[in-house]
Amino acid sequence: MTPPLPPTVDVLCVGLGPAGARAAAAAARAGLAVVAVDRRRRPGLPVQCAEFVPALIGSNVRALGDSVRQSIRAMETRIEAGAPDLTDPFPGQMLDRAAFDAALVADAIATGADCRFGATARAIAPDGTVTLSDATAVRAKVLIGADGPHSAVGRAIGSVNRHLVETRQISVRLLTPHDATDIFLSRGIPGGYGWLFPKRDVANLGAGVDPGHRGRLKEIVDGLHMKLAGAGRVGREVLALTGGAIPVGGMLKPTATLGATRVLLAGDAAGLANPVTGAGIAAAVHSGTLAGEFAVEALRGNAQALADYEDELEALFGAALARAVRRRGELASALRDAAATGTAALRRGWVAYPEYWAA
Ligand SMILES: Cc1cc2nc3c(=O)[nH]c(=O)nc-3n(C[C@H](O)[C@H](O)[C@H](O)COP(=O)(O)OP(=O)(O)OC[C@H]3O[C@@H](n4cnc5c(N)ncnc54)[C@H](O)[C@@H]3O)c2cc1C
Repeated sequence: MTPPLPPTVDVLCVGLGPAGARAAAAAARAGLAVVAVDRRRRPGLPVQCAEFVPALIGSNVRALGDSVRQSIRAMETRIEAGAPDLTDPFPGQMLDRAAFDAALVADAIATGADCRFGATARAIAPDGTVTLSDATAVRAKVLIGADGPHSAVGRAIGSVNRHLVETRQISVRLLTPHDATDIFLSRGIPGGYGWLFPKRDVANLGAGVDPGHRGRLKEIVDGLHMKLAGAGRVGREVLALTGGAIPVGGMLKPTATLGATRVLLAGDAAGLANPVTGAGIAAAVHSGTLAGEFAVEALRGNAQALADYEDELEALFGAALARAVRRRGELASALRDAAATGTAALRRGWVAYPEYWAA
């Protein structure tokens, strides 16, 4: 039987996705008493991800190797029915996201973190006490919110992801080998884009849109599926279905105090997913590690630790997130003009084109 949780701990981490698992490992490695909880029954399941990570993440995650299913060389962007624009190189990897998350959790456990699944943070009191789904109350010196886009910890400190993209994704058979991520831009996919990401003999095919268009997601993904199946690239059978929200409003204030409890947000809870691409795995890994390290700093008596964490996130992600938020806004207002074709605006709103990176 699992022993009951202690009423007080050094660090309580809510969420055991990539951000939480990295935070828990970093804090436990330094010898702190770390408890980490996740409402899921098992790490990483169900998968709510298209599973692409940029090549550079490898320097941050030793366990990456076992989770990689395919290498990616390039990106192919299609605007409306136009020919693909090739971005080569655009290197990265397709992961088995469930295996990746499980490996990060195994690492956190190996460093000494007490990781519990099937445990939801139900309430967070103004003094920082967290009440779990089994009514256990835990008080931590440092509370790390790594609980994703709808973070309960974020809500407790007033840092809420108010701008989200809603997604729908199916898995299908990939009928011809492919080593690029395919991106579909269209004014018919408002506030987001369609994707086909190859993973050996299967592919993740999905789309994200502004929440106001959520009702059209099925039609958009089915349309893309039929087109690609008609072209002989993917099978007609739907092997799996998933979805979820992606924060697209940019970085939130990632620290606060609740009574004597210091609070740090990481990953999607801190709004670190890229508002244009939706990519958030690398930022979750990186910010989670930093949150764990700065929790250690705080408990070693560094009064600046929370401010330093904020500065570090700003230095790492601030400029990229601000540009992406700006481009999203520009694209949305350009596409409000029904007479415009949208092609120029779509180019300026996507990372593959020089217009995106221009002043
Ligand atoms: C359809 C889709 C496709 C995506 N594709 C990509 C991609 O290809 N590449 C990429 O880089 N990013 C992608 N993303 C984004 C990426 O998945 C996230 O940015 C990443 O998972 C963020 O990691 P995280 O640890 O911050 O949060 P999460 O991975 O969301 O983990 C949060 C954890 O907190 C737990 N939790 C939540 N609330 C509570 C609570 N109250 N109590 C206890 N536990 C709680 C959840 O169960 C979850 O396990 C995609 C997202 C979606 C929805």
